[in-house]
Amino acid sequence: MLKTTVTGSLPKPAWLAQPEVLWAPWAADDPGQLEEAKHDAVRLAIRDQEEAGIDIVSDGEQSRQHFVHGILEKIEGIDFENKQRIGIRDDRYEADCPTVVSEVKRSGPIHANEVAFARAHTDHDLKFTMPGPMTIVDTLADAHYDDRPALAMAFADILNQEAREIEAAGANVIQFDEPAFNVYLDAVPTWGVEALNRAVEGVACTTAVHICYGYGIKANLDWKATLGAVWDQYEKTLPALAASNIDQVSLEFAGSRVPIEVIALLDGKKDVLVGAIDVTTLEAETPGQVAAVIRSALEHTAPERIFPCTNCGMVPLPRSVSQGKLKALAAGAALVRAEL
Ligand code: ZN
Repeated sequence: MLKTTVTGSLPKPAWLAQPEVLWAPWAADDPGQLEEAKHDAVRLAIRDQEEAGIDIVSDGEQSRQHFVHGILEKIEGIDFENKQRIGIRDDRYEADCPTVVSEVKRSGPIHANEVAFARAHTDHDLKFTMPGPMTIVDTLADAHYDDRPALAMAFADILNQEAREIEAAGANVIQFDEPAFNVYLDAVPTWGVEALNRAVEGVACTTAVHICYGYGIKANLDWKATLGAVWDQYEKTLPALAASNIDQVSLEFAGSRVPIEVIALLDGKKDVLVGAIDVTTLEAETPGQVAAVIRSALEHTAPERIFPCTNCGMVPLPRSVSQGKLKALAAGAALVRAEL
């Protein structure tokens, strides 16, 4: 019980990519060297999690430059040369986004090899993450569909093909990252959840959705400052997720102003990945702080439903900070486990 896990991304070593930045360029130009560096970084990320005591590990997203654009690079119908600077997450910040120029489709497997590599290097349960359909749509310029739900469904089909292969390659958990679910609240109960359901159709392994308030970058911190004393975004979307086909919901609680009782809106039907590590601070939590978040979550759902987790990915953090936080997460969960 109280198995610990991570949201997804972990810091990249300097020999792979520039540390502590998003969209960091790769250190190696030579494709062979880059491939080797990615593999080394995945083994290290897995080992770091195992040493910290994390139960369900990920590849730390070491093989992708960004959590959304990594998968898009291998999808037809997207022009990466033609990047447009657009406002994303309801204009919270601007990003140079590739453009959808024709029907999107997969030309072949994208992540299966990465999963097989990670699978071969750990005996722990393995999680693999992909961006969710709504978040993909929100991180792209579109010159073809002009219809966000339709584009989301097209990506959901692609994600579903990927998910089936990722499961076959040995992943135990497939997680879709949907920070956009905290932005387009009205779209979640309609096409947001519908697209997720399509993405997990026929997938037998555990499925998860991660919904957060973002990395600890300035644009997100500024946005959070505008959200008031009580963050009520989850309150509006969790009932729809309770009725979805997704098994687990990953939420942000540490250092946030989310009332923890929102967990009850999942009605005991879903596992909750309880964010007990704040990814916006440079200091590791104490095990006691982690334990306190888990204990408060326990007041709103059964212990077998709780998986202590980080609030979000940790790629922008220094490696030493990330490692300290992973250790605190495992130690905090152990404290509460001993009380059960
Ligand atoms: Zn996140």
